[in-house]
Parts: sequence; C-alpha cells; structure tokens
Amino acid sequence: MAGLESIYRVDGRVALVTGAARGIGAEIARVLAGLGARVALADRLPLDQWEPDAAALAREARHAALSLDVTRADQCDAAVHDTVRRLGGLDILVNNAGINSRQPAEATDDATLARTLDVNLAGAFRMARAAFPALAKSPHAAIVNLASTGAFIAITNNIPYGVSKAGLAHMTKMLALEWAGRGIRVNAVAPTIIATDMTAAVRADPAYMAAKMKTIPLGKLPATTDVANAVAFLASSAAGMITGQVLAVDGGVLTQ
Ligand code: NAD
Repeated sequence: MAGLESIYRVDGRVALVTGAARGIGAEIARVLAGLGARVALADRLPLDQWEPDAAALAREARHAALSLDVTRADQCDAAVHDTVRRLGGLDILVNNAGINSRQPAEATDDATLARTLDVNLAGAFRMARAAFPALAKSPHAAIVNLASTGAFIAITNNIPYGVSKAGLAHMTKMLALEWAGRGIRVNAVAPTIIATDMTAAVRADPAYMAAKMKTIPLGKLPATTDVANAVAFLASSAAGMITGQVLAVDGGVLTQ
C-alpha cells in the first residue's frame, strides 16, 4: 500500500507556481509543499503584500520567493533560471497567475482585452516556453494550467477573461501533443467560482450569487483546497498517463 500512496506524492520534485502570493496559487503551493515538493512561489506583488501564510512558506529554506510579472518574457526566463539555481531543477510548472474584469462586451476597451490576454494566455505560454529546457530534463515533468468553467460556457460581461481561458484550454491540448515526445505532460483544471480576492465583487452581489449557486449541482462553492488537490493529482505520478486534459473542479457545472 505504501507504493499506492506514494504515487500521489511529489517528494523531491521542484515546483514553480505563478501568482502564488494569495488565493488559489498560495493554496496550490501549500498543498504541493505538503506532498513533498520544494516550491518556488512567484508573484508580481511585493512580498510584504502576500498572504502571510504564503510569505512564510516562501521564506522557508527549502522553498523560494520570486518576483515575477508573467507579461515580461525576461522575467519568465529569470524565474525559471532562479528556480533551477536555488532549488536544483524544475519538474512542475503551475500557470496560475491570472486577472479578471467584468464589463459589457460593448464597453470593453482594447487595453482591458489586451492586458487580460497578455496575463492569462500569453503569460502561461511565456512560462511554458521558458520552462521547456528544464522540464525536458525531468523524468516527472508536468505543467498544470488554471483554466475556468468560463472557457466552456458563455458568461455575460466577461469576454476578455472567457476567451483567454478558452485559449488556455486549447493551448493545454496543443502543448500536450507537441511536448509528449519530450516527456512533458500538460493538463489544466477548470474551477467554477471560488472565494478569493478575484471574485470579491461578484460574491458581494446576492442576486449574482443566487443565480450562480443554481448552476452548481453539488450546491456549494469549491474551496481553494479542492482546486489545489486536483492540480497536485495532475502534477503527480498518479496522473502519469494523463495529458492534454482539462479537469473541471466545478461541483458538476459542466455536466449541464
Ligand atoms: P487572485 O486574484 O486572488 O490571485 C491571483 C494572483 O496572480 C495574485 O497574487 C496576483 O498578484 C497574481 N498575478 C496577477 N497578474 C500577474 C502577473 N502579470 N504576473 C504574476 N502574477 C500575477 O485570483 P485567484 O482567484 O486565486 O485565481 C488564481 C487563478 O485561478 C487565476 O488564473 C484565475 O483565473 C483562476 N480561476 C479562479 C477562479 C475563481 O473563482 N477565483 C475560478 C476559475 C479560475
């Protein structure tokens, strides 16, 4: 039984998690660390603005805190380089950094569209490209992208975010195919709404939330831990033959 349990662990592997200062990314870092990984937590926020638990984890000797803006190719390359130098390699990349905005399609300006695609889609691509040489050397290489149920169902007032996540879901499949021969698995998770800073405004709107809850068959919001557990599974050897998949963490939203 020890063998069965150990395939869910990531002992000795190095993970780089983007957008790890708070919310889902911070929880992914905590869960991967708990399963044995050494984790580079990367974010564009200065360390004194991170959630205290994330900052404390990043300061532990076996982990690392990195300054990273995923819209900057030079910073993506540097984050991978620093991870390899400080933690000894790279096995797992989690593309979690993301932004959201809500406005009617006709009121969406070019800057919002461009910025959202730049962070959510191009940012994940830049990080995957930067990580490729290090991942190609790993016997356990895995990328996990943070997509969304909004990649698969149309949500009103959310065009930049929805199309960025739809692009990310498709990029997951394309990279999985292209890098399968290099031993790099590429998967994604697609959560429904989670209680983080990103969703504070809509969660404060009772009418929005009442309508949203009706779409979730299991009748409750997933927790950040539910998302992190799915990411950890996809990153682990338990998912060793899974690539190109988008795993919904949505209480059944996408069954309908
Ligand atoms: P959040 O806003 O609480 O945290 C996002 C983190 O990403 C922040 O720490 C932020 O500083 C960082 N970040 C933003 N832009 C960055 C950049 N250019 N470079 C580096 N870091 C950057 O959001 P969250 O709810 O924790 O979401 C995490 C991921 O999960 C996002 O990709 C989001 O789209 C996705 N997601 C969230 C939900 C939800 O309901 N919260 C649902 C589905 C998918």
